[in-house]
Amino acid sequence: MKKYTDTAVSKTLELLAIDSPTGFCSRAAAWVKAEFEKLGFDARMTTKGGVLVDFGGEGDGLLLEAHADTLGAMVAEVKGNGRLRVSPLGGMRAENGETENVRVYTRCGKIYEGTLQLCNASVHVNSDYGTVSRSFDTTEVLLDEDVKDASSVRGLGIEVGDIVCFDTRAHVTESGYIKSRFLDDKLSVGILLGLAEAIADGECTLKRRVYAHITVYEEVGHGGSASVPAGVTEAISVDMGCVGDGLSCTERMVSICAKDSGGPYSYDVVGTLIEAAKVSGAEYAVDVYPHYGSDVEATLRGGADIRHGLIGAGVYASHGYERSHVEGVANTLKLLKAYLEM
Ligand SMILES: [Zn+2]
Repeated sequence: MKKYTDTAVSKTLELLAIDSPTGFCSRAAAWVKAEFEKLGFDARMTTKGGVLVDFGGEGDGLLLEAHADTLGAMVAEVKGNGRLRVSPLGGMRAENGETENVRVYTRCGKIYEGTLQLCNASVHVNSDYGTVSRSFDTTEVLLDEDVKDASSVRGLGIEVGDIVCFDTRAHVTESGYIKSRFLDDKLSVGILLGLAEAIADGECTLKRRVYAHITVYEEVGHGGSASVPAGVTEAISVDMGCVGDGLSCTERMVSICAKDSGGPYSYDVVGTLIEAAKVSGAEYAVDVYPHYGSDVEATLRGGADIRHGLIGAGVYASHGYERSHVEGVANTLKLLKAYLEM
C-alpha cells in the first residue's frame, strides 16, 4: 500500500494548499472532481457544491463520505480603526487562530494578507494581555495594508461577508508526522484519492457498488444530508479519528468510532469494520468520541435509510494545529481496502 499512502499524503498537501472554509469550496471541489476524473472515475458536482464519485462495482451500494470544507472565518464588521472583526465559520476558535496569518478573499477577486491578533496585541502596552479571554470579540484581523479607518479598508474592496482563510502551516516531518491545520478532513479526501488509485490499478476489488461523496458543508452540520445515490444501504464517514485523554487511538492508528455525540454507530457496521481491521493487519482502536458529529449522521437526519459507520486516521489537537502520521494514513487505507473486499 506504500504507493497509495504516498498518493494520499501528496494529494492531501495539494488540497491543503487550496483555501476552502465551509461555504467557500468551489475551487477545492473543482480540484477534487478533476483528481477523481484523472483516475478514470465518473465524478459529478452536486447542486450544493459537493462531488459525487462512482467507483463502480455491483450490488447494494456503499457510500464513503469525506469533507473538503474546513474551518475559517467571515468578515463581520469593518471597524473604525481599520481592523476587521470576524465571525467563525464552523467551530473555529479564536484561541486556535490567534497570531495566525490569514488571507481575506474579496468579492472583487482580490486577496489581502493579514493576521488574527488580540486587540491591542503588544505585551509591552497591554497590561491585560495574559488575562483577556480570547474570542472573536477580543481578537481582530490586522490587515497588512496601510489602512487606519473603515473607509480606507472599504477602498480596498473589503466588505462584510468576505471570506477569511487561515494559513495551514502544512509540514511533513522526516519521522512521518503530518502537521497542518485542517487535516480534518482533507487528510481523508487524500486517503480516498489513494484508495481510488488502488481501485483503478486493480489492487482493490469491489464486492459491491461503491460511491464517494466529498461534501462541502460538514463543518456546519449538513454536508452529507443529501445526494445519496439510489441503491445505497450503507454509508461510512471517513473523517478524523479522535486522539486524547481517555481514548486509545494514536496518530499512527486508524480509529473506528463506536459512538459520538450523535449516538451509537451501527453495531453491525462497527463489528464488520473491526473484523476488516483484524483481517488486514491494520493497527486500529475502537473509541467513543465525547464531542463529535459526522457527515453520516447528517445523512441519516436527511432521511436516508442506511446503516452507518465512522473511521479515520488519528488526528491530535483537532480544530487547532493538527497532527497525524503517515502510518495512520496507511492503516486507514488497509482497513478501507479490506472492508471493500469483504
Ligand atoms: Zn471533520
